[in-house]
Amino acid sequence: MPEPLSNNLPGTRDLLPGETERWRLVEECARRIFERHGYREIRTPVIEPTELFARGIGGDTDIVGKEMYTFRDQSGRSVTLRPEATASVVRAYIQGAMYRGGGLDRLYYLGPMFRHEKKQKGRWRQFYQIGAEAIGSEHPAVDAEIMEMALGILDELGIGAKLLVNSIGCRKCRPAYMDLLRGELGRGMDGFCDDCRRRAETNPLRVFDCKVEGCQGGIALLPVIIDHVCPECAAHFAEVRRRLEGAGIPYSIVPRLVRGLDYYVRTAFEIVSGELGAQNALMGGGRYDGLSEVLGGPPAPAIGFAMGLDRLVMTLPEKATEEARWEPDLFLAHMGEAALDRAGEIARRLRARGMSCIVDFDGGSLKSRMRLANRMGARHVLIVGEEELASRRYRVKRLADGAQWEASLEELEQGLNPVAGT
Ligand code: AMP
Repeated sequence: MPEPLSNNLPGTRDLLPGETERWRLVEECARRIFERHGYREIRTPVIEPTELFARGIGGDTDIVGKEMYTFRDQSGRSVTLRPEATASVVRAYIQGAMYRGGGLDRLYYLGPMFRHEKKQKGRWRQFYQIGAEAIGSEHPAVDAEIMEMALGILDELGIGAKLLVNSIGCRKCRPAYMDLLRGELGRGMDGFCDDCRRRAETNPLRVFDCKVEGCQGGIALLPVIIDHVCPECAAHFAEVRRRLEGAGIPYSIVPRLVRGLDYYVRTAFEIVSGELGAQNALMGGGRYDGLSEVLGGPPAPAIGFAMGLDRLVMTLPEKATEEARWEPDLFLAHMGEAALDRAGEIARRLRARGMSCIVDFDGGSLKSRMRLANRMGARHVLIVGEEELASRRYRVKRLADGAQWEASLEELEQGLNPVAGT
């Protein structure tokens, strides 16, 4: 027996009408806030050469090591469905020689990402990210602006969140700290998990990313990088903080917040929700001054973040959900085929005025049509029966309160409110 075709792949899902409106509300809010800050949209392919992610994210990460959807295409080339977008955006920045314009390029994107994650609540294999990248400046004002913008999106959506920040040093000061950390870990790793033991060899900073309960006691005793950054990094961080405070943005310093790759420097941040339980990270971001060079481009200091659209939609307050509800302006109920033609004509004219109109094709009793209009969430019902055909005046019923009135098509074109005197 062939498998039924009615099931999607685990970790993917269909977003049905009812849900998609909530998604659009979040997307449109993000676009609005980005554009208010001068960010412009960039769209990159969802499929890229595997090498881009191996280099751009790092071979030793869980994403590249375990989670990528990688396969050979018909030409034998190894290709990967993007697990995140920063590497692609920087590739496009280099390939499109955007750096030639000079100054700061402010870019944003939204779209699906793919990671073969273990099954877990709040984690999907096809999920959606909204993100921003500011490429071309190392000024701390950019760091502060990008965090303010990220919080601005959440604020506008009514989602309560906390900003966590850290400074993770730079290529100059990190090596000495890494020696210190390796020394500590080398003294013994009793109680640490196998992944941590491996990380201690390959990239010790990643030990801080471990979520295993048994490792937390050991992690708490390790030296933290923020105590060992150079004066330049410390000054950069102080300036970021001064600007956050100047903008009235509360934040907490979390010394164990890291990004475990060499080209991630200085500012690292995360925004968490109080409402999501274990998978509470709404977004992660950081400065990646060295990435452009890793990908073969010119020096281009940059900072960015990615937020999980799936999780934003999950945390959306009830009020926003109500706003997002789809409500067609008018449901046109007809009595008989001739009335159906007229209903079609009326709908065409009103759509040209920007109203959303649903023409009922099935017909049936007025009562059943009213029920259907209600179920569809229509604001008004327009009845086209024998009498209305002849008089060219139509009965309108407002479903919220049952008010009824009569109007001609010309009056309806002026709006669906009752016309005085009818
Ligand atoms: P990352 O690219 O791993 O730093 O993730 C940035 C944000 O994307 C996270 O804070 C989450 O909100 C979201 N995210 C990452 N992975 C997933 C996933 N598998 N399912 C849903 N959201 C995710």
